[in-house]
This record gives sequence, structure tokens and C-alpha cells, in this order.
Amino acid sequence: MIITDRIQKPRKVLIVDDQEINRDVLGAILEENYVTVYAEDGAEALEKINEDTEGLSLVMLDIFMPKMSGFEVLRRMKEDERMKSIPVIVLTSDKSAELEALQLGAADFITKPFDAYEIILARVERIIELSEGRSLISSAEHDRLSGLYNRSFFFEYAERLFTYYPDLHLDAAVINIEQFHSVNALNGREFGDRILETIGGAIKLFLEGSDGIAARFTADIFAVYCVHQKDYHLLLAKLQKKVDNISPNVSIRLRMGVKEWVSGDEPLLMFDHASAACNMIRGNYQQPLMIYDEGMRKRELFDQRLLNDLRTAVEDHQFTVYYQPKYNIQCEPPVLSSAEALIRWKHPELGMISPGDFIPLFESKGLISIVDSFVWRAAAEQAADWKNRYGITIPVSVNLSRADVFDPLLVHRLKRLIDDNGLEYSDIKLEITESAYTDNARELLDVVDRLRKIGFEVEMDDFGSGYSSLNMLSSMPIDVLKMDMKFIRNIEHNETDRRLVELILDIAKLLKVPVVAEGVETDGQLDILRKGGCDLVQGYYFSRPLPPGEFDSLIEKELNNGKDVPI
Ligand code: C2E
Ligand code: CA
Ligand code: CA
Repeated sequence: MIITDRIQKPRKVLIVDDQEINRDVLGAILEENYVTVYAEDGAEALEKINEDTEGLSLVMLDIFMPKMSGFEVLRRMKEDERMKSIPVIVLTSDKSAELEALQLGAADFITKPFDAYEIILARVERIIELSEGRSLISSAEHDRLSGLYNRSFFFEYAERLFTYYPDLHLDAAVINIEQFHSVNALNGREFGDRILETIGGAIKLFLEGSDGIAARFTADIFAVYCVHQKDYHLLLAKLQKKVDNISPNVSIRLRMGVKEWVSGDEPLLMFDHASAACNMIRGNYQQPLMIYDEGMRKRELFDQRLLNDLRTAVEDHQFTVYYQPKYNIQCEPPVLSSAEALIRWKHPELGMISPGDFIPLFESKGLISIVDSFVWRAAAEQAADWKNRYGITIPVSVNLSRADVFDPLLVHRLKRLIDDNGLEYSDIKLEITESAYTDNARELLDVVDRLRKIGFEVEMDDFGSGYSSLNMLSSMPIDVLKMDMKFIRNIEHNETDRRLVELILDIAKLLKVPVVAEGVETDGQLDILRKGGCDLVQGYYFSRPLPPGEFDSLIEKELNNGKDVPI
């Protein structure tokens, strides 16, 4: 424990007050435990502090004094490198002065007329202990890059702040950089370090002169306990601006999660909640700030429930796989070409749960491969079943999560899937979301290469939602681009979106990769896509994802119409 390790020397307290009676009273209270020295006005106080910056453990400072006010003394102390770390307790009878003094960097205040002497003694003792803790750690417990505290000291200190200062009511905030590993990968570590340094400096500046502490944990995780801010957007905007200033050519986005203090809050738990809020907006550029609220608390409970129920769900066959057809629209009429396997969870008590609610959750907890293995197996069995019953091949795409891609057994697992079901490699296609490519480009490209070499087709899913640059695209080993749904939504009414889609289609043509447009719902959208040269369409226009029985009917209808299935 840092504080108990402190050097045992008699501590010296400077008492500054223009009224003799006040000096006498405080002196009498402190004398027994401390060496006391005195000043009668601000100027004398500054002189004495300046002479003895190393020796003073605390200054007790009257605010209203002739000549130089306590505010001025405080301000000058905080501007001076040597004086600024000496803690100051402000003595005042004026409520409004307390706040200003705290904002100027006072550690605490004592109201006149003075409280019972035990209370004064206790507060003096706490402030000194806190400040000694703070200065002792200053060399050993800092994160060198950002200049902030490290994780372990941060929490230890926070516990202490909350215990000694139950009236402080500090909020917790967590700040992250969106896709920081990509920032590092694309611009170099040195650049990344400069960004971290800048954020550290900006947070320090923000906290200066107020209560609160900050730390950098690993990588890009910054943690702060600070006095309540009316508008956290302002704080975030300030930090963002500092970052923008030093990186004019690179877009770096900060995101922030906040847990505002309420009675009974524990510092650690507050931090967890701020962290959860921050994680919730990961990848959401429209909303860089999230304040933890009742809705999030419910969401956390819901998530916990889903995590608890996963095992039973697998054992009790609550998961099923639906299939959504993809149509080739360059034929007239369009022809059923393949299908995407999409999981559905029919929970006995919660009803149908959307994959959007549990896929990212299981991904973040490292549980996704349980779900994905199940879907792959079902999809492979389904493709084999269609082959057997209808004598046709409808290739089925399955979704791969990030964790699957980096599973060293992936190739082995997929090979077995094909062998066990008597399929060809071309019967199962693999969809990998674009953002996975940018997160870990090199490793992922290696895996994709290996999968393609043995005969799998790899589709880049949600193209346009991630960060791949055009030159990356030209060297990427992919067989199909799946355009993100957001591009399609407004193509009928928004000229820019339409042009963008046409541009993507042109690029794909240049690269000689077919494009699947997802989320197509209307005639108008289909028409634009067909004219632009889009090959395949998946969307409600043709069909929602269907349970296997209904997909059978769809195939039978196509067969009865005498259409070739598939092309
Ligand atoms: P995704 O891979 O982009 O799948 C397409 C999503 O778009 C599906 O949502 C589908 O139902 C929906 N969709 C298709 N056509 C339309 C349309 O015309 N309009 C609209 N508004 N939506 C349409 P779903 O099934 O809710 O899945 C959501 C996401 O969950 C998927 O996005 C995928 O990322 C993930 N997912 C689903 N099944 C699996 C799985 O088995 N494994 C993994 N790892 N992820 C899965
Ligand atoms: Ca997909
Ligand atoms: Ca998609």
C-alpha cells in the first residue's frame, strides 16, 4: 500500500489567515500532530511557500484577505511547477467561494466558523495522506506515454477518493479510439503513440484544477473519474479537436462512455458501466458518446441471460437456420442462384431473438464458434439434402466471424464439413465481413488465400461499411463483393447514393468480381441495379429468409416453372 509506505517525518502545515483568532484556533487544533507555521496575508504566504516547497505538507488558506486574496494565492501556486503539488485547504464562510476554490485546484475546504476540531483534524489528515499517495506514486505509477496513471493505481486511488470524499460525487468516463489497431497498422506505431500522448495531455489539462483522476490502461483505453459535467459532448469535442489538430490527414474518431454518479455507486462498478456504454457505440460513427442509463442496465441483464442460456439453447435445439435466396438478375426472369444461411433463435420464454442481439454478444465473449459450427453443419446438411432430393445444387453461403477466421483449426473444420456431407467445395461459400479485413489484414489474407486454394469461394460481406481502400481491394483475394445494405436503401431518391452504387459496380467490373446487392426491397431498386450491371440480388423483394420447409416450396415452384436452378 503506497500510503502506509510514506516517509515518517513531522509534517508541516502553513496556516494563512489575516485574523489572529483564526490562526490561533487552527494552530491549537493542529499543534499536537503537526509543525505549524503562519502567514497573515497572501503575499507573506506565497513567500513562505516558495521558501519551503519541499517541507510543506499542506496550506490552510483563508480566501478573503486584504491585499492578496486566497484565490490569487491559489492561482499562483497552481501556475508554479514546484508549488502546485502542495495541497490546499481553503477556509471560508462563503458557500459560493467553495466551488470556485475547488475549481482553482483546492483539495478541500473548511467552513467558518470552524467545525469540531476532530473533523478538522480528520480532514487535514486525509488531504495530506492523499497528496502523499499522489506524489509518491508520481514517478512509479505513471503510464509513461500518456503521462496519466496506470490501471492499478487508478483504481486504488479512486477507492480512496470515494471513501474519503463521499461528497465529491465523481462521474466515470471511458474514452477509446475507434479501430485503433487499424490506425496503428495504417500509419505506424509512432503515429499511434503521438495520438495517445495527445489524448493523455488533453485529459490532464481538462482535469487540472478540479477533482478527478485519469489513467491509460492498455492500448487506447483511457479512464477518468471527474466532477460532473453538464454536457459530455463538449468534453469529447475538445479531446477530438486536439486529436484532429495533430492528424489533419487521417480521420481518427474518439468515442466515450459515461456513468454518471448516483447515490451508492462504487467506483469499480461505475467504471464497468462507463466501459459498457463505450463498447456499445463501437463502430457507430453517428453516436460517439453514450451515457449509461436504465436501458443499458436492462440490456446488460438481457445479455447476461442470453449468455447463461446459450448451452441449453444448443442442447434443446432452440437454434434453427433460415435460408434467404439470392437471385441472378441478369436473366429475365431472374433465377434462383444460391442462398445465405442465417441463424434464428427461438427462445422458449423470450420468443424469437434477432441475430443482431446475440451474434455480436457471443463474438465479444468468444462463444461465437459454438453457434457458427452449428449453422455450418446445418447449412452443409441442407445443401446435401437439396442435392439428393431435387438433383440440383444450391450453394449455401455461411457467415464466418472474426474469431472463426483466426481459429487455427478453421481449414480442418471446413474440410471435414465438406467431406462428411459428400459435398464439393463450391457448394459452400464463405462470407467474411469487410471490417475483419481491415482489422487484421495480413493474417486474414493468409487464411483467405488458403481457403480459396482448396476451392472455397469467399465473399466480402457488408462491403462499404468498413475501411478497405480501393488499392487494398485490387489486391484482395475475394470472389464476390456483397454491397452493404445502407447503399441500397436510398438509391431511388438520393442521387449521391445511386452514383455511389454505380461506382462500386464499375469497380467490381474492373476487378472482375461479381456483386451481390443486399436489402433490395423495391422494383425501382432492382431496376437501377440491373442497369448498373449488378449480378445478384438478395432481399425482401424476392424473399425474406425462410425456414427450410418454405425454401423447399420455393425450389419446387422454380422447378415447376421450368427454370434452370441454379445457374
Ligand atoms: P448479414 O450477414 O449482412 O445478413 C443479412 C441480413 O439482412 C439478415 O439479417 C437478413 O435477414 C437481412 N435482410 C435481407 N434482406 C433484407 C431486406 O430486403 N431488407 C432488410 N431490411 N433486411 C434484409 P439477420 O438474419 O437479422 O442477420 C443479421 C446479421 O447477423 C447478419 O448480417 C450477420 O452478420 C449475422 N448473422 C446471421 N446469422 C449468422 C451466423 O450464422 N453466423 C454469424 N457469425 N453471423 C450471423
Ligand atoms: Ca452475410
Ligand atoms: Ca451483409
